[in-house]
Amino acid sequence: MKYIFVTGGVVSSLGKGLAAASLGTLLERRGLKVVLQKLDPYLNVDPGTMNPFQHGEVYVLADGAETDLDLGHYERFTNCVLTRSNNLTSGQVYETVLAKERRGDYLGKTVQVIPHVTDEIKNRIREVGKQSGGDILITEIGGTTGDIEGLPFLEAIRQFILEVGSDNAIIMHVTLVPFIKAAGELKTKPTQQSIAKLREIGIQPQVLICRTEMPLDQEVREKLSLFCNVPLNAVVEAGDVEHTIYEAPLNLRDEGLDATVCRLLRLDTPEPDLSDWKKFVQRVIAPKKRVRIAIVGKYIELQDAYKSIYESLTHAGASHDCGIDMVLVDAEDIEAEGADKYLRGVAGVLVPGGFGDRGVEGKIKATRYARESRTPFLGLCLGMQVATIEFARHVCGLAEADSTEFDPGTAHPVITILEDQKEVTDKGGSMRLGTWQTRLLEGSLAHHVYGRTEALERHRHRYEFNMAYRAAMEDKGFVISGTSPDGTLVELIELKNHPWFVACQFHPEFQSKPNAPHPLFRAFISAALANEE
Ligand code: GLN
Repeated sequence: MKYIFVTGGVVSSLGKGLAAASLGTLLERRGLKVVLQKLDPYLNVDPGTMNPFQHGEVYVLADGAETDLDLGHYERFTNCVLTRSNNLTSGQVYETVLAKERRGDYLGKTVQVIPHVTDEIKNRIREVGKQSGGDILITEIGGTTGDIEGLPFLEAIRQFILEVGSDNAIIMHVTLVPFIKAAGELKTKPTQQSIAKLREIGIQPQVLICRTEMPLDQEVREKLSLFCNVPLNAVVEAGDVEHTIYEAPLNLRDEGLDATVCRLLRLDTPEPDLSDWKKFVQRVIAPKKRVRIAIVGKYIELQDAYKSIYESLTHAGASHDCGIDMVLVDAEDIEAEGADKYLRGVAGVLVPGGFGDRGVEGKIKATRYARESRTPFLGLCLGMQVATIEFARHVCGLAEADSTEFDPGTAHPVITILEDQKEVTDKGGSMRLGTWQTRLLEGSLAHHVYGRTEALERHRHRYEFNMAYRAAMEDKGFVISGTSPDGTLVELIELKNHPWFVACQFHPEFQSKPNAPHPLFRAFISAALANEE
C-alpha cells in the first residue's frame, strides 16, 4: 500500500479536496485501486449537527455516515467505496481515546496527545488502507498549516511516514501563490512560510500544488523549488478551472502530477485513459442546448450548501448535451413576493432538502406554481414533504395541513414523526440515515424512469409521510410510487395530472457521477427540455 497525504497552506478554501479527488481520478485511470480519506481537525464527532453556513452540505454515505462534502468529490471523481471510517474527526479520535481510558486500557499511564492520540490517528489511516484492499490511500488533512487543531494529525503523519518509509508515503502540499497587482508579481513568500511551518514539526512535502490566478513562469517555479526544497518537476501549477471543476484532473495531468507521484512512489503504471472524462468536460463546456432550472432553497447564497444537487444537475445536463442555467431562488423571496415573479419562464423547478421552518412557505408556493403551471418538478427530501403539504392544502382542501416539524399541533399532520423517532433525544446521527431499499410501483413514472422495480437510495431525515392521509390524497390524483419494501414508509410520490412531477424522501444527489447521472435527475432534465419546446 502506498500513501499520499494532502495538506493545505496559507489560506483555507484552496480546493484541497478537489486536488485530492483529481489525483484520485488520474491514478485510478492508471489502473491503480485508489481510496480516499479525510481527516477533519474539528471537535464535532461528525458534521451532521452543523449548520450549512458553518460547513456547507453534509454528504451522506451508503452506510449512513454524515460526512464532509469533500467525500462527495471523492465519490464523484473516483469509483472508490467510502464508509464511515473514511472521514475521521478530532471529535471521533478523542471519543475513542476517552472511551479506552475509561475502560482502563491505559491503566497506570498518563493519557497524552503523543502517543495516544497520534496512535489512534495512525491506526485509522492504516485500517482504512487495509480494509479497502487498494493500492493507494489518499488522505486529505482538513484545515490549514499552522492551525493549533491540526497539529496532532500532522504529527501522526510524520510518524506514519517514518514507519512506512519515504518510498511508500509522500506529502502533497496545496498552497496559494498570490498575484500582487501593484507589483505585477506572483509572490512565493506565503508558500515558503507555510513550508517552514511544516519543517518546524519535521515534515517536508514532496509535491507542491500551487493555486494561482496567473501562470507560474520558470523563475517563480525555480524559486518555489529552491526555497521549499521540492524538485522543480514537483512544483505543480493549479490555476482556477475555467468552466467546471471536472477540468481539474485534466489540468493537473497536463502539469504531470500523476507521473511525478508515480515516480516518487515507485509505481510503474500505464498512462491514464481520460477520453470519456474529456468528452464529459467538453459537453459541460460547450453544450448544444441550454435549459433554465430554478432551485428554490434557503441557503442559495452559499455555494457549498447544495453542492451535490448542483453537480447532479450538471451530470444530467451533460448526458443530454445540455448546459444547465441554474436560477437560484431564495425561498423567502418567494414567500414575500410570490412565485410568479421568480419562476416565470424556468423550464423546471427543484426544491431541495432542509430543516426547520424558515422558507418553507416559499417552497410551498414554488411547488404550487410548478403543479399549476405544469412545470416539471423535482422535490428532494423536504421537497417531497413540501409537495405533500401543498397538495393536501390546495387540492384536498386540508387548509391546515402541515408537517409536525413546523407545527407540532397541526390539525392535519400529513408529515409526521414516527413512534421510534419520538423517543430519540440525541440529535447527532439519530435520523433515518444511509441506504434503504425502495419498492417502485409498477407502471408509475418512477418505474419508467428507473427502468426497474427496486432502487437503493440514501436517506437523511426524521419525518415521514403520514399514511393516515393516503386514501384522501390518492383520491385526488396523488400517487405514491415508491415505498419501503414493507409498504409502511413513503419514498416517492408523483402526480397523475401533471407532465412530470416527482418527489422523493431520499437524496438521489448522493449517487450521481459525471458519466453516470442519476436517473431521476436525467429524466427531470429531459422533461424540462420537452417543456421548453
Ligand atoms: N426536515 C425534514 C426531516 O427531517 C427533511 C430533511 C431533509 O430534507 N434532509 O424529515
